[in-house]
Amino acid sequence: MELDKMDENDWKYHGEGNKSLVVSNVQHARVLRLLKYSTEDAENSHKTTEQAFRHIQNIVDYSQNVMKPLLGEKFIHNGEAVKLPLDFVRQLSLKVQQERPESRCDKVMDTFSGCALCLPNLTQLSSCCCCREHRPPLCIEIKPKCGFLPSSRHVTKEIKNQVCRFCMHQHFKLAHGKWKRLSRYCLITQTAVSLLSVSIQGGECIYSCKDDADVLQDLDELAQHLRPYFLPSGSLMNGHQSSKVVLNELIQVIVSALLSSWDPRKTHLSEGRVRCEASLLHRDLLRNTNHCLPKDCVLDKILGTQMLDNLDIEGLNPLFKRVEQHLQDFPKERSSLQIDGPYTHSFLEKIQKCPTEDDGSIEYAVGKVHQYRVAMTAKDCSIMITIATCGEEDGLEIQPSKPRFTYSVSILDLDPKPYESIPHQSRLDSKIVNHYLRSTLPNN
Ligand code: ATP
Ligand code: ZN
Ligand code: MG
Ligand code: MG
Repeated sequence: MELDKMDENDWKYHGEGNKSLVVSNVQHARVLRLLKYSTEDAENSHKTTEQAFRHIQNIVDYSQNVMKPLLGEKFIHNGEAVKLPLDFVRQLSLKVQQERPESRCDKVMDTFSGCALCLPNLTQLSSCCCCREHRPPLCIEIKPKCGFLPSSRHVTKEIKNQVCRFCMHQHFKLAHGKWKRLSRYCLITQTAVSLLSVSIQGGECIYSCKDDADVLQDLDELAQHLRPYFLPSGSLMNGHQSSKVVLNELIQVIVSALLSSWDPRKTHLSEGRVRCEASLLHRDLLRNTNHCLPKDCVLDKILGTQMLDNLDIEGLNPLFKRVEQHLQDFPKERSSLQIDGPYTHSFLEKIQKCPTEDDGSIEYAVGKVHQYRVAMTAKDCSIMITIATCGEEDGLEIQPSKPRFTYSVSILDLDPKPYESIPHQSRLDSKIVNHYLRSTLPNN
């Protein structure tokens, strides 16, 4: 990719989240992740190129030096901060505008700084043989959210030990018009059906759990798309029966990708968690769930990192205040305590060497605040599973009979969460919990 000869015609809209918009190259296995800002947020639109570049470089450093050692080398792909010609970025922004979903258009793409994050396109397999088969790889993106219930003694509302944050947050969003219906997704229940509340891509987006669509009809349609991947071409199986077989095959592949370990010899099981009582899933489905995760599988790595938040926001908030007080008294220590980065190896050390008990020190408070922020990133990341049929050299092989698959598992969206957002998180937490208690419990 020659940065001085960029042509918007080589790029197409790929997707977006709340913070960034992603375009993919039509020939090379690369994507560009551009920042977005809200039209009211004048401050961000006036970021200089240097500031924007620094911001993106921070994301790269954080992902490489902090999240990678915590989540495992093999799941994380290095990105690179790049400066693009402004003319290219403006043309690109015009080009992608019509493809953007309306619900995301409250924010606009940054066309001022010319800075972006360049990443490998994780919907493609690096040495893929699927091209020969004219069948694009199948990608499943899962946003696992928080996978445990807090056990901190600082938690004041008992409901937080029974119902997970995701389920409570949904009630809150529903009441505030952000969502149209409750999702059946809850990873704490760890059932395969709930995993289908995800989006699946095969070259183009072929399935995305929609707000108001009929879930079962959706699944039938999905099965039609998946048929060539999972049923031998001569199969006589038809209609409903084949849908069931195909979806079962898909779920098996997803589950083995999520649970496969780096080292198959290590088969210790780590402690699981209790289930969330608010999940809408049927009890029969829950009865058979396995509450253990194989060590070092992607879910275990993410969960372990999320659990660095072991005080809960209620226990963390007083420590945040201790840090704030300390910074008022000794403002010059802000940089040595690495409050706003840089995200170097020594930032990771502050996380790993944090004392387990509160000794009243500023080091303990800063260590816990850093741990909390890292846990927040792990609660907000996505897992991308890319599956191709056939499969010889690359990847791990599953299911030696019938269709054969290779797959890769990656973790993406590993931005640092700002130190300044902690008071907001604290207020949001009590709003969500109070709303849940008011709206679901009788006589309240
Ligand atoms: P969120 O709102 O979840 O915080 P975000 O704004 O931080 O999202 P990302 O999640 O990083 O943005 O990217 C948005 C979407 O773009 C992802 O959900 C994913 O579908 C796609 N995407 C991001 N990075 C890549 C990549 N390297 N390869 C392929 N697709 C990607
Ligand atoms: Zn739940
Ligand atoms: Mg995301
Ligand atoms: Mg994000």
